[in-house]
Amino acid sequence: MERQFDNPGFYSRRLGDFFLTALHDGHVIRDRPAGFIRGVDEAVVEAAFTEVGNSPGKLEVSFNPLLVDTGALRVLIDTGHGPNGPPGTGRTIANLTAREYSPKEIDVVLISHFHGDHINGLLDAEEKPAFPNARIIIPAPERDFWLSDRHSDDEFPGRMKVNRQAAQRIFAALGERVETVDWCQEIVPGITAIESAGHSPGHTSYRITSEGAALLFAGDVTNNPGIFARYPDWIATFDNWPQKTAQTRHRILRELAETGTPAYFFHAPFPCFGRITASETGFDFRHEIWRQD
Ligand SMILES: [Zn+2]
Repeated sequence: MERQFDNPGFYSRRLGDFFLTALHDGHVIRDRPAGFIRGVDEAVVEAAFTEVGNSPGKLEVSFNPLLVDTGALRVLIDTGHGPNGPPGTGRTIANLTAREYSPKEIDVVLISHFHGDHINGLLDAEEKPAFPNARIIIPAPERDFWLSDRHSDDEFPGRMKVNRQAAQRIFAALGERVETVDWCQEIVPGITAIESAGHSPGHTSYRITSEGAALLFAGDVTNNPGIFARYPDWIATFDNWPQKTAQTRHRILRELAETGTPAYFFHAPFPCFGRITASETGFDFRHEIWRQD
């Protein structure tokens, strides 16, 4: 029998009365561009990336939305790439289905920020809503930055212009289904929006609590935390607001280390749950042990 690489791309864990499921959207390996980390010697960058398992000269990124089943509501946080992402991505709905949830059962989709790997999966291949019964909830500061009429496309350099145009297209297609949330606001019982701007100017994390247990969906406060928790001052080319990115990273990681609250990083190696501890130079990310109980 020929064996296939068909590992299920989901992992579930309890949080109080809630049932959380990490959903794997996919994984890409790209050439790491020169200057990917601003102002850091290439040899130091290369050593940090190879230490966490990247091949020489490569940038490996994993993409992982989180489903929170509160019992009353099924809340998906971020969507993955959807149907038009790079090869090896776009598996969120297949893995949701493998976990025996239908896209129709998703009540709320919460968005952390407007980069394509987090929002493109809101629409299916026909540009129709991929989660047909869901309220779509986006951070107001993120909407104000990317979608404001006060700015023109030309004010957004390079990749940011592509992000803006994609966000305009997606949220226009979703129309009145889209609602906004402000920082510090509770969205549904047990899920609160937390300011974590920097990587994107309105980037939002979500604090999830149930029966005294808590977890922070930290989104892209770090890309791979094996690198960016360890070097919290490193700014990558995809961090839109460099100085704020580092400030926010220090603040969020310090809180996680001091409180011992578990966290979920969208780009951590799957299944993305772990804890942050302080180290001499920054922080370490410690993966939770896989449990099946
Ligand atoms: Zn991302």
